[in-house]
Amino acid sequence: MYEINEKLRALTAYVPVDAAGCVRLDANESFLSLPKEIIDEAKLAMEDLDFNRYPDPAAAKLCRAFAACYNVDPGHVAAANGSDELISIIFSGFLMRGEAFATLEPDFSMYAQGGHLAEARHTAVTKPGWAIDVDQVIETCNRENVRLLIFSNPCNPTSLVLRKEQVRRLVRGVKGLVVLDEAYMDFSGESLLGEEADFDNLIILRTCSKAMGMAALRLGFAVAGPKLINAIRAAKSPYNVNSLSQALGTAVLRRPELLREALEQILISRKALLSGLAETGAKYPGRFILLPGETNFAALDMEDAGEIQKKLLERGVAVRYTGGLLRVTCGAPEENRAFLTKFGEILEETE
Ligand SMILES: *Cc1c(COP(=O)(O)O)cnc(C)c1O
Repeated sequence: MYEINEKLRALTAYVPVDAAGCVRLDANESFLSLPKEIIDEAKLAMEDLDFNRYPDPAAAKLCRAFAACYNVDPGHVAAANGSDELISIIFSGFLMRGEAFATLEPDFSMYAQGGHLAEARHTAVTKPGWAIDVDQVIETCNRENVRLLIFSNPCNPTSLVLRKEQVRRLVRGVKGLVVLDEAYMDFSGESLLGEEADFDNLIILRTCSKAMGMAALRLGFAVAGPKLINAIRAAKSPYNVNSLSQALGTAVLRRPELLREALEQILISRKALLSGLAETGAKYPGRFILLPGETNFAALDMEDAGEIQKKLLERGVAVRYTGGLLRVTCGAPEENRAFLTKFGEILEETE
């Protein structure tokens, strides 16, 4: 009888919140779809697409559009089928079996999965009071001979951001590779983009799934100096980004003014959600602590976060319970209001 090996038996498939018919504030997506102008452009691009041909393996136009949008050297950019794919490429390529990788917990769950499949040794550093302690991380990584440190900044799920100077100190301080996942950096201002070549051990990851509203297209980017970016290009599968996503992503990235407008709407939504939560917090003191985040979601530290998540889902509002926190994505104005109303009701009833 065929037996699946131990490392695969230890894994279970990622299960998103079952949120059919609910207000969806669980996956940190944008609540805005792409503007109509872009959809019209996409339709034209589709008519010209060579569906019978493989896509451009370098995704050159897409990488150039990304580079122009973020003011980085296009020679430092590689594209992938979502940053999830980059995480998987990096773990399988940059780690040898038995080598150590570190995560700063709580953080994005795909990191541990990537390390597990690479048969690497996991050093999980617990963040004291949810925030990164740079000295602790440097000390632990170098003591444990960590070959790869990966963390998100701003962090999913804590929403907290580490300031640039601290990130630089961290990258300089550790001997291994640092993978800096800036999935939410459009909502903050502490990016190290543009500095990637100043370090020989830094890879920055970005995604089009959050601020840019293209989660469906699966587009992620790695940004690093030539040596590291060439290694990623060599390790990825050649046709990893399909032609339709390349064309649509290029069209969107060439319109930074539309992206800025969308971003402004998300920031307005964040302000409304956070101020609503601050009011709720004042009404029910001691029930939760709202972490001071710079993302498109709110992170609530509360004892009964798991219970509250279930109760919200029963009332048609999907949020995420992860890393010990209640994570609530900024939604459309009526979605934020629906969440705040249900959340307030539940706090009232469970007082
Ligand atoms: C959502 C998310 C990603 C995944 O991005 P994709 O490009 O959609 O694969 C990566 N990292 C973090 C921290 C995220 O929250």
